[in-house]
Amino acid sequence: MRSVPDHQAAVAALFPAPEAVRVPTATALGLVTVDDVDAPISLPGFDNSAMDGYAVRAAEVAGASAERPVALPVAHDIPAGRTDRLTLAPGTAHRIMTGAPLPDGADAVVPVELTDGSVTTVSITAAVEPGKHIRRAGSDITRGEQALPAGITIGPPQIGLLAALGIAEVLVARRLRVVVLSTGSELVTAGTELEYGQIYESNGAMLTAAVTAAGAMARHLHFVPDDVDDFLARLDEVADDADLIITSGGVSAGAYEVVKDALSRNPSVEFVKVAMQPGMPQGCGRIPTPSGGSIPIITLPGNPVSALVSFEVFIRPPLRAAMGMPPHRPRLTARLGADVRSPNGKRQFLRGVLRTGEDGLVIDPIGPPASHHLRYLAAADALIDIPADVVELAVGDGVDVLALDD
Ligand code: AMP
Ligand code: MG
Repeated sequence: MRSVPDHQAAVAALFPAPEAVRVPTATALGLVTVDDVDAPISLPGFDNSAMDGYAVRAAEVAGASAERPVALPVAHDIPAGRTDRLTLAPGTAHRIMTGAPLPDGADAVVPVELTDGSVTTVSITAAVEPGKHIRRAGSDITRGEQALPAGITIGPPQIGLLAALGIAEVLVARRLRVVVLSTGSELVTAGTELEYGQIYESNGAMLTAAVTAAGAMARHLHFVPDDVDDFLARLDEVADDADLIITSGGVSAGAYEVVKDALSRNPSVEFVKVAMQPGMPQGCGRIPTPSGGSIPIITLPGNPVSALVSFEVFIRPPLRAAMGMPPHRPRLTARLGADVRSPNGKRQFLRGVLRTGEDGLVIDPIGPPASHHLRYLAAADALIDIPADVVELAVGDGVDVLALDD
């Protein structure tokens, strides 16, 4: 049997290096910058008002108070968006709104609350210091300064900054396109009445969600029956428009193992037993594309828990790495909340729920080890990673934990 690290290495070797592409800023959520991004303009681009109020010369209102207001004629009205350049004549005020350009000659803004709000002659009831309520050009970022470093994950605030800088496209590591294909003649779609012996297809939706959560672009192909020709035809249809194909089912030791039957003649695909539970039968390799290239394929076992655990252990880390993304799954150490047993010679990934105990993090194992218990998978927020040579652990023993926190 192959060890988990050896199969992780075999799978990881199938992934390409991150590829730089330019994408519209609005679609860059979750992608990683491959270059520093410098500001092409300053922000703010011009001195502007931080308040709704009146642009003044501070010295002219220095003596203003509620008892002795200063009256100034309002020479202009400057809403946000006014694009002509104004000058504040001495002895006058301009009514100005938040974000509107400050007129030349003005050095402060009196908030409307400290005035009578007039549009003809404004009565100002308080002094303002020079520079008050003005957002200076370049005070956020100056043209030429670094806006974002290379290697940063683009989230909503980064998209906001790029958009504010007028950067319509950004250079990022390309999002990989992953096709998810389930196999099994017992599978039917939700909404169809189940006949005896049939089950609703679940791996496809689950793995599609896992791919999306990992930051890649998933295409859910639903499923094919256990028919080699159907299966191969489906691969052919999609292979030219994908960077990776993930299948589930049809790789164990029985008969009607469609994935194994279809691909075992391909010397570039290997089917192996990995010393782990769940998820022992695994396959990976490259398949030819109709246009003459080849793409990686990773064939996961069909049991739902095996399929998702295998995705977490083998696919998610290199998939993210191939998009320049950090692994993002925190590896923690926790104390067991209950005794566990584990088969000798197999690395076990048990489902668990994390909690904070009296002296640190505790993980409570949940559900039996068998790999059809989706219910416990859905209730878990972590996998307990038990080394292959460990057969027994007691309450309070320290274990490695993979937090599943998205
Ligand atoms: P297989 O690996 O094809 O032998 O399937 C192992 C177990 O997983 C069987 O009980 C299948 O019915 C089940 N299974 C396989 N594929 C799926 C799927 N896409 N959705 C739900 N269960 C599945
Ligand atoms: Mg099957």
